[in-house]
Amino acid sequence: AKADGRNGVALFESTMRAEVERRLTMERDLSMALENGELQMHLQLQVSRDSTPVGAELLMRWRRTDGTSIPPDVFIPVAEATGQIVPLGRWALRQACLSWLRLEAEGQAMPLSVNVSPSQFRQPDFVADVRAILQETGAPATQLIFEVTEGLLIENLDDTIERMHELARLGIRFSIDDFGTGYSNLAYLKRMPLYELKIDRSFIHDMPGDANGTAIVQSIMAMAGHLGLRVVAEGVETQEQATFLAEHGSPGMQGYLFARPMPLGDVITLLSADTNT
Ligand code: C2E
Ligand code: CA
Ligand code: CA
Ligand code: CA
Repeated sequence: AKADGRNGVALFESTMRAEVERRLTMERDLSMALENGELQMHLQLQVSRDSTPVGAELLMRWRRTDGTSIPPDVFIPVAEATGQIVPLGRWALRQACLSWLRLEAEGQAMPLSVNVSPSQFRQPDFVADVRAILQETGAPATQLIFEVTEGLLIENLDDTIERMHELARLGIRFSIDDFGTGYSNLAYLKRMPLYELKIDRSFIHDMPGDANGTAIVQSIMAMAGHLGLRVVAEGVETQEQATFLAEHGSPGMQGYLFARPMPLGDVITLLSADTNT
């Protein structure tokens, strides 16, 4: 048993070492990814009840020079922990502004949503960075929606809310992403300059078969209605889900049923095809 225990420890240590190495390699590669042009933004359209495109979310993609891709669920948390999210986030915002300008030039202007990580939002220079990028690109702040998670509200709530108001005065709108999965005290909602709630896809996934998931979706929509907030349902994959949503509050919808995340050029092709028919 003793020998087993030692082997267990050895295995644990080598697994740990492999994990640390994997992470260090990712950190090093990520710091080069921007310069090497390995990052790309994809856009996923949001639609209204009648399938009309009403906006799009920008989602970061990392394809390494060896052809392998690393999903954002894996590299964003690393970038958050190391601070690399700051240059990545600046780049993401600039891409959003440039994408908006390109869509406008094509006659397809629509509000664009950008994910903003808590650690990025808390950077002392964040507001100054946003101003600088808006000024440099000439994109209108009123066409940008910042998606933040409830995780942002755990620390320094007063400072966070003050900063949100500062950005809202520039014209930026705010959406609470993955709504329903985090912080449960809803009193904060009234203090924030909010535009939208995005219902987490785990609740949409369970709908309409599962009574709990359905009840959660309906109560989020009712609450949003009372607060005057727009709702977007994410991860809509089936016609059944879309029909249920259309019949119960009719939120904006985003999901594979309507469009996958895709490069801007493909979005423009898709939108132009729609316009021509
Ligand atoms: P998120 O913000 O909740 O983004 C929605 C995720 O759901 C995206 O995954 C999207 O591709 C996926 N999705 C969309 N429709 C469907 C569907 O019908 N079914 C299913 N199963 N999934 C769907 P993705 O692109 O892998 O991004 C994962 C997460 O990485 C995002 O979750 C967001 O938290 C983070 N992320 C992505 N891009 C950025 C970025 O530029 N900045 C920051 N800070 N985070 C980002
Ligand atoms: Ca999001
Ligand atoms: Ca989400
Ligand atoms: Ca999510």
